[in-house]
Amino acid sequence: MIYLDNNATTPIDPQVAARIADFAREHFGNPSSLYPIGREIKEMINEARQTIANALGTSRSEIIFTGSGTEADNFAIRGILDAHPDKNEFITSAIEHPAVIQTANYLEKKGCKVTYVPVDSKGVIDIDFLKKAISHRTALISIMLANNEIGTIQPIKEVSKIAKENGVLVHSDAVQAFGKIEVKVDSLGVDLLSISAHKIYGPKGIGALYIRKGTKISPLIYGGHQEREMRAGTENTIGIVGFGEAVRVMQKRGLQDKKLINKLAEKLKKGIEDKIPNVKFNGHETQRIKGTLNFSFFGLEAEAILLALATKEIYVSTGSACSEGSEEVSHVLQAIGLRPEVVRSSIRMSLGRFNTEEDIDTVLRELPEIVENLRKISNLNNEEY
Ligand code: PLP
Repeated sequence: MIYLDNNATTPIDPQVAARIADFAREHFGNPSSLYPIGREIKEMINEARQTIANALGTSRSEIIFTGSGTEADNFAIRGILDAHPDKNEFITSAIEHPAVIQTANYLEKKGCKVTYVPVDSKGVIDIDFLKKAISHRTALISIMLANNEIGTIQPIKEVSKIAKENGVLVHSDAVQAFGKIEVKVDSLGVDLLSISAHKIYGPKGIGALYIRKGTKISPLIYGGHQEREMRAGTENTIGIVGFGEAVRVMQKRGLQDKKLINKLAEKLKKGIEDKIPNVKFNGHETQRIKGTLNFSFFGLEAEAILLALATKEIYVSTGSACSEGSEEVSHVLQAIGLRPEVVRSSIRMSLGRFNTEEDIDTVLRELPEIVENLRKISNLNNEEY
């Protein structure tokens, strides 16, 4: 199998899997219990919290575990708007993940004014538009750090500076950036930031929200005293321990993953551009998570390519994992100005730590042939629209 859909999810690292298995076998206590088998679990949770805090350059008390990256995004946005009833305006971008876009839609229905900042053809937000959208009633700006479909990295430092000048809080969805580029909350200047374990070779169903000390935010779930009464419910202990281990492994590997992924992605990108006519690379050439490659193959339906590749056990995606299986065309590719038929011809390949040079050689052998054969039977125009 050649897995090129690491932005959808990553395989669990063997070291993380081993830690989870050991933990599940040996520990079952409730971290809220006061006797030793409870207290030791609480300590392990705090160890994981500390590891994650260190990676983000912050303190343990500013990390709240959530049930996913989606939940962290919901918590940040709804929690801030709820805690600031005098400020009823929210600014985000046109290319956010559905976790943010759908939350924004919900707020709109509740009477909140939402502004969606447009992006240019490379997927970079329009900073001047953002500046003009801010008012004294803006509670929060939420802009993702890196996009899941095209990988474009946003100028978050600049966003934070502008926000600070206007007394507005900033949240960033760093789910796709964490583990791929440096994510330090102080240097980014953000007040809130979301991450998720299953994008960094950890387990699914566990995420975290960084909340800067002193930020006024309403709890997400009411109940017991867990997570500083911000997100009640007995902790996902297995998930948390796995998340901590995934971050530990990530830090131990240092630049190793980045170097490999960048090299393989460069080779894949160049190979596709050299071997396949009438393709368009989508996204930013440099300001991008390098392992994310999005290409339009003129004249074809992306699903046909995806399925043909799948018969060779090569797995890619037609966009964000969340819109997979639905008829919706990608709002991200539309926002960068692609026509619907070009959007529908687009494939995302996202590389990860377990990809090899042979993977790329195989894709570069199979893909040109698949595209050529499909184009022979396609009644769509192969030339650029
Ligand atoms: N934000 C971005 C940018 C993502 O890519 C994803 C997952 O695809 C999420 C949020 C949601 O994370 P989770 O799958 O943990 O809910």
